[in-house]
Amino acid sequence: MTDSRDTGAARPFAVGAADSHPRPGADGWAPLAGSAQAVVLEILVHGPRPRTQLAERLGLSGPSLTRITKPLLESGLLVERAAQAASGSGRPAIPLDLDPDAHHFVGVKLTHDRLFVVVTDQRGEVLSERDERLPDPSPDAVVAQIARVVSSARDRDDRIRALGVTVGGQVVDRAVVRHAPFLGWDDVPLAERVTAATGLPTWVENDVRALTQAELWFGEGRGLRSFALVTIGAGVGLGLVAAGEVLGGAHSSAGSIGHQRVVVPAVAPSVASLPTCDLGHHDCAGAFVTVSAVEAAAARALGRPVGYDDLLDLAADGHEEARVVVDAAADVLGQLIAGVLNVLDPEAVLLSGEGVRLATIAAAAVDRAIASSTHRSTPAPRLVVQRFRFDEWARGAAAVSIQMHALGR
Ligand SMILES: [Zn+2]
Repeated sequence: MTDSRDTGAARPFAVGAADSHPRPGADGWAPLAGSAQAVVLEILVHGPRPRTQLAERLGLSGPSLTRITKPLLESGLLVERAAQAASGSGRPAIPLDLDPDAHHFVGVKLTHDRLFVVVTDQRGEVLSERDERLPDPSPDAVVAQIARVVSSARDRDDRIRALGVTVGGQVVDRAVVRHAPFLGWDDVPLAERVTAATGLPTWVENDVRALTQAELWFGEGRGLRSFALVTIGAGVGLGLVAAGEVLGGAHSSAGSIGHQRVVVPAVAPSVASLPTCDLGHHDCAGAFVTVSAVEAAAARALGRPVGYDDLLDLAADGHEEARVVVDAAADVLGQLIAGVLNVLDPEAVLLSGEGVRLATIAAAAVDRAIASSTHRSTPAPRLVVQRFRFDEWARGAAAVSIQMHALGR
């Protein structure tokens, strides 16, 4: 895997002025249920709203809303903002808001050799970030390293309430890493072990699904009822949102497209012997689209090792073999996107991950593959290529802890 970040020494936390803020709310905050959950989620995602608007959007009566919000205001979870002038002769409307600083969260994203950490407020705003090498990927060493990082963050911020950790691979019940190939882990009860080591409630999630949650609440998916997130990096991943919810699947495996069979691009065998994925497939998505697969194809085609970003630069400059390799990967990426369009018909497809620049350099090949694999009447999709940042992934981990802590789901 190729991190685009500098792999230098760990950067210190740079926490903002957390101490200047009053401390509403209590440490022990019971998960919300029912309508209270809906009220908090509405304000969490969409910002401050007056009671009348909340009642209308959630289908609640005025008295019901007042009854539901009273304890939330008393506990400090919700606050009243300055009144807005009402139109006509009505009383000024007082917006209810959530105090984003009442609770802070830690998000940790693990890769095979690095650990990315953010502290966020309750709206997913990143307050501080840090990344460091992961010298020993064994579960014992990783748990100890997470505990050290969290302890250091809590020395500077006494409002940290919960922790989210994400990994590439299969995670069940937001607790157990069933299989994480990049770390070489199987059946690691990570949430339980990190909770024991840090004393903080901890949830664990697949990294792509967590990033999808963060995009839905705090990112470019906000306000959308359906979208897909395709990630290109050490693996190729897919996150799905339908009816405003992130899809998990019956076995927490929704979006596992790495070994999805594809039509081998016509040009691929002519430039090099057929690639394979880690399971020995010649014709799956992972054999073409991951960063390491593209680098391996480039080495075969150019007869020398070429880094991922150098290859993309060569292709952009008109290097013929480089262009063929890049377009073959883009063709397979387009096939994957077409599959999502055909099944889900999402409002947008977000593209992310450390290898995402492929979609820009070879946009024409992606578009051609989409057009040839979808019905003629299917409108061209809204593709959003996101600038890659690893702290986005760590924020995804924090979003999972915000969700579990605030909403209990
Ligand atoms: Zn495969």
